[in-house]
Amino acid sequence: MKLGGIKLHHCKNTEDSQSTVLPLPAKVRIPMSMHIGAPCKPLVKKSDIVTVGQKIGDTDAFMSAPIHSSVSGKVTNISDYRMSSGNICKIIEIETDGKQTICPDIQSPDLNNKESFIKAIRESGLTGMGGASFPAHIKLNPKQNIDTLCINAAECEPYITSDYRQMVEAPEEVIDGILNILKFLSIPKCIIGIESNKPKAIELLTQKAEPYSQIKVLTLPCTYPQGAEKVLIYNALGRIVMEGQLPADQGVIVMNVSSAAFVSRYLKTGMPMISRIITVDGDDVIGKKCNITVPIGTPVIDVLNFAECDLDRAERLLYGGPMMGVSIRDVNDPVIKSNNAILAFKKFNKKNASPKPTACIHCGSCIKACPFHLIPPDIAHAYKQKDLQALNDLKVNLCMNCGCCTYVCPAKRPVAETNQFAKAFVTSMNKK
Ligand code: SF4
Ligand code: SF4
Repeated sequence: MKLGGIKLHHCKNTEDSQSTVLPLPAKVRIPMSMHIGAPCKPLVKKSDIVTVGQKIGDTDAFMSAPIHSSVSGKVTNISDYRMSSGNICKIIEIETDGKQTICPDIQSPDLNNKESFIKAIRESGLTGMGGASFPAHIKLNPKQNIDTLCINAAECEPYITSDYRQMVEAPEEVIDGILNILKFLSIPKCIIGIESNKPKAIELLTQKAEPYSQIKVLTLPCTYPQGAEKVLIYNALGRIVMEGQLPADQGVIVMNVSSAAFVSRYLKTGMPMISRIITVDGDDVIGKKCNITVPIGTPVIDVLNFAECDLDRAERLLYGGPMMGVSIRDVNDPVIKSNNAILAFKKFNKKNASPKPTACIHCGSCIKACPFHLIPPDIAHAYKQKDLQALNDLKVNLCMNCGCCTYVCPAKRPVAETNQFAKAFVTSMNKK
């Protein structure tokens, strides 16, 4: 069986941009939810003095991850914050003192078995850095037997090169992170899947992995969405993750390559997840396309100013890539753990304005492009009829909102969006 997918212009304008460090922002705003699962409760109050790496949010909920301060300074406000999902969580505002005093509790964790490793990963606050923001200590601790760690280094979305920079700037961190995960979780092997448009990363990681027979680097074709979990597992291992299943049901854990590198750094230093590399790119409204290491909670405006963004002309701002990214509503919103890019594009004009959708011409392009060969026109019809049975039969829940269908539709229909509405309808009906 051949999966669908589409060819995209890679636009990896920043692939040769060595990552630099953003000057310390005057303040950060750190939301208490940057992950799938329950939001954290603030552990600090207004006027408290905090240090770098200090835990400032946590919860007893199973599906969650603690949150740490990325700066030293003073808590100036704790308020409600509406996330892109529409849900509300608390947000902690910290005025930086410029000293970046390290929290005295920071030390590399003591590890002697799987339990201590999983506990350490939880304390690190690591959540998926590829965009999914799944708490890593839960992903790394499934009930199922795991025989393969699959490292997602595809970075298939156009523009984004933050994972690539991690791979070429510090490939040894990637390999060390992998070796630790394999050791503590007793996983026999690892496959690192990289798209063929990253030959330098393939070469470096192959070289670094050479002494370790349990790690293999696999070159994958450049077909979007190569980095989608189910697609990656199928292309790397030939295993099918069925509807309703998790990768662990097929004996696989998938982890983003930057997350694996973070594991290495954390085990050595004990410094939790307080910063990350992001790509800043777009069209000509960005004067300095770059990769920068940014403290978590940095306002987007600080990043855009650093990248010499022409804010008068920039209208479309995105967290993440052009296919699956999320609109930035307010330039004062913060960079969070799952953000791998900020993209800016100029205002619509007659030339690049979105054309109006027209009736479906039943060309089948969306079905061919869909990685799982879902049938969007039938899904749209079933959704219009509110036909729950038909939507389940059409496996709408497999839709991962990759956008391939919308991208190829000659009628410019909002195909992926309709599928998301249909999925939400199915979820709400199944809850009743
Ligand atoms: S958005 Fe959904 S239906 Fe469209 S191509 Fe992706 S998985 Fe298929
Ligand atoms: S690509 Fe667009 S026009 Fe073609 S079948 Fe799909 S929805 Fe209809």
